[in-house]
Amino acid sequence: MKFEAIYHDGTTSSSELVVVTVSEDGSVSFSLSSPDSEGLNTSLLSNITDLSWSELKVQPRIGQTPRWIRLPNNAQLETKENDLVDQIQERFKQGVFDGFLHRTEHSWWMVFCGLLISVLFIWGSVQYGLPAAANLASKAIPADVLNPLGEEVIVWMDDNLFEPSTLSDQRQAEIKNEFEQLFQVQAHYTLLFRASPKIGANALALPNNTIILTDELVNLAENDQQILAVLAHEVGHIVHKHALRRLLQQAGLAAILMTFTGDVSSVSSAVAYLPALLIELGYSRDFEYEADEYALQFMSDQGMDKDHLARALEVLHQHHAGEDEGDESNHSHDDDKPETFDYLSTHPATDVRVEKIRNWQ
Ligand SMILES: [Zn+2]
Repeated sequence: MKFEAIYHDGTTSSSELVVVTVSEDGSVSFSLSSPDSEGLNTSLLSNITDLSWSELKVQPRIGQTPRWIRLPNNAQLETKENDLVDQIQERFKQGVFDGFLHRTEHSWWMVFCGLLISVLFIWGSVQYGLPAAANLASKAIPADVLNPLGEEVIVWMDDNLFEPSTLSDQRQAEIKNEFEQLFQVQAHYTLLFRASPKIGANALALPNNTIILTDELVNLAENDQQILAVLAHEVGHIVHKHALRRLLQQAGLAAILMTFTGDVSSVSSAVAYLPALLIELGYSRDFEYEADEYALQFMSDQGMDKDHLARALEVLHQHHAGEDEGDESNHSHDDDKPETFDYLSTHPATDVRVEKIRNWQ
């Protein structure tokens, strides 16, 4: 499509009659209307290459008055060919949204802001959204799902991590008795004893209100109060549903949605993940602090000395730190990673936890 227009270069008063050609793909080119003409600032005109119609700003039509079309270089075209310009506009005009995108693309600042908002949104979702959703979902999952889940995890752990406890029946009964007397909720918590050369002195809280205590921890503790302090910490993990929340966070939104859509059985198929989460990845620091906080409050209520928990952590820390010297393969010393095992702390966080416990009022 072609139309004649008067070209004003926008900086001088010079103008020239040109033929504007709009090709099929919307690209715009100019040629002199009269080959003899010399008045046009041809250098300005030659600057305009790769121009497309959508880059032009076309003044709205007012009757049959000549219309102005602004070019990106601030030059202007003046034309009386209103009908033809309307046709071209109809064909190549940009939509409102295209126009916005077009402008956005060309503004790195807008792009940067958009990117920043996206990153913040994703970070926010993962940092706060997912844990919050996991927390909510953990409350919605009924016990009859958690019990089989916990039982399957124990079966898996017995096959892979644990050996039967070598503690005497009498010693087991002694600890169990102390635990049950302290918590007075025998029906709610199950205490299991296992030996585990693989994970050493440790205690684990499972989603079905079961706590597993290793022989190694029982033997390492300087007194039974320390064992009870560790158990109080594990009860904290259970009360706050940490294992389940950890699992749900890991399994992600899919598992959470399944929970709310009623397909709860599929959550229990995630049983395969849980041992790995509990053993290899451990809990976040926040969860550890939360469990410590629970233990401290509980011990305070029971008149127990809070130092038993601090001392238990120190003893466990020394135990596992010593182990690490011989075997580096399983344990992470990376400051940003959670503790390798719940109590297997070669992590600086142990110092922080101990300090927090000692300062706790
Ligand atoms: Zn813990």
